[in-house]
Amino acid sequence: DSRSPLERFRTTPKKPLSVTDIVSPAWCEIQYWYTLTKHGRKLRTPAMKQGSAVHRILEEQVHTIVPITVQTKEDSWGLKIWNVIQGLRTLRVTGLTRELEVWGVVEGQVINGIIDELSYTCPDPQLEAEIEAEKDKHSPTKSISPSQQKIDEYFGTRSRNSTNLNLYQTPPEKRKIYLTDIKTRSRPSLPKGVAFRPTLMQLMLYRSLLASLAANTVPANTIFARYDLNPSTPFTDAFIAEISNLEFNFSDDAGLNSEDRFAPMSSQGDAINELQQHNNLTLLWQLMIQEFVRTIPSADCIGEVLRAEFILARDQSVLGSKCFAYDEDALTKYVQDEMKWWRGERKPRGVEVEEAYKCRVCEFAEDCTWRKEKMEEAIGRQRERRGRLSTGSGV
Ligand code: SF4
Repeated sequence: DSRSPLERFRTTPKKPLSVTDIVSPAWCEIQYWYTLTKHGRKLRTPAMKQGSAVHRILEEQVHTIVPITVQTKEDSWGLKIWNVIQGLRTLRVTGLTRELEVWGVVEGQVINGIIDELSYTCPDPQLEAEIEAEKDKHSPTKSISPSQQKIDEYFGTRSRNSTNLNLYQTPPEKRKIYLTDIKTRSRPSLPKGVAFRPTLMQLMLYRSLLASLAANTVPANTIFARYDLNPSTPFTDAFIAEISNLEFNFSDDAGLNSEDRFAPMSSQGDAINELQQHNNLTLLWQLMIQEFVRTIPSADCIGEVLRAEFILARDQSVLGSKCFAYDEDALTKYVQDEMKWWRGERKPRGVEVEEAYKCRVCEFAEDCTWRKEKMEEAIGRQRERRGRLSTGSGV
């Protein structure tokens, strides 16, 4: 089959690319290729199932999950967009939201993903101060010498946020949002080095998708066309009635007024009005963008400190977390290179000898031609070395 992975696995009628599709090959592209060829998608392992259960528990800590019946695919998408709108309002009111879906167009391809957690709490103020200091070093107009200001004072005055942010006294345009990804692990250790790379890229890609939505640069019609949706089809009355009946809809001004100590909830009538005024995908998308702009009024309202938290699957204890800085150049380089493989412009790459430990836990190790070739190369090099030593020509 000479088709590219994109043509074979992620072209209509198959689903579009996801963030997982872009970042999973960072572990081993050959493994991802085998996974797609054999199963069409990443199979849910027992560890992944445990992970989903953990995610559901975490989501329920923030949202009330209610089953909704949908009659059309446009209703089903209306529900996705409504969930994002409510997620953003939840963030503004409570300082935290979970499981926020995002969409975007990357290298001409529609892509989606779900951000595990968004909050107003900076996970690593010191790292943030270092990022700001580094930026100022490269900006002559903003330069502040260390003797002028200590780093902690610097952080205190420069950062839009800190761990003790008072949500109700800080207007949304002064708040900064931080992204977290929650990973469940079957072993009680944190991933190191290259093993952390997929998570690193995943969080950076989420941040980039979030920034594009907030900047209103995501072409809604391209997204709707890819999912084969008619954006002007009205939502069904049953859908509008069911959503409006929910007890937990935040109103459109939720979290905007810094004086508000209580979460403003929509009455059933308000929710019906809001949905009737935005009763198709085009209009509801516009409302969602309005919520993004209200919540993230400028690009620097999204923190550059990204955090991965690791939870032990068997008992759900927190193993620890890792914070790192967003690096746009590294992300762009990675995504461009990965898309070359997806488009079939280059062959997939397997793991190098130094990362051979990955092959020991790989279900495709037996049949993997890349691994066999690498082993043969290594044996050949060994023989050559022995040969040189026995003839005395070695160095
Ligand atoms: S055996 Fe190693 S190189 Fe081959 S697919 Fe598995 S992890 Fe990748």
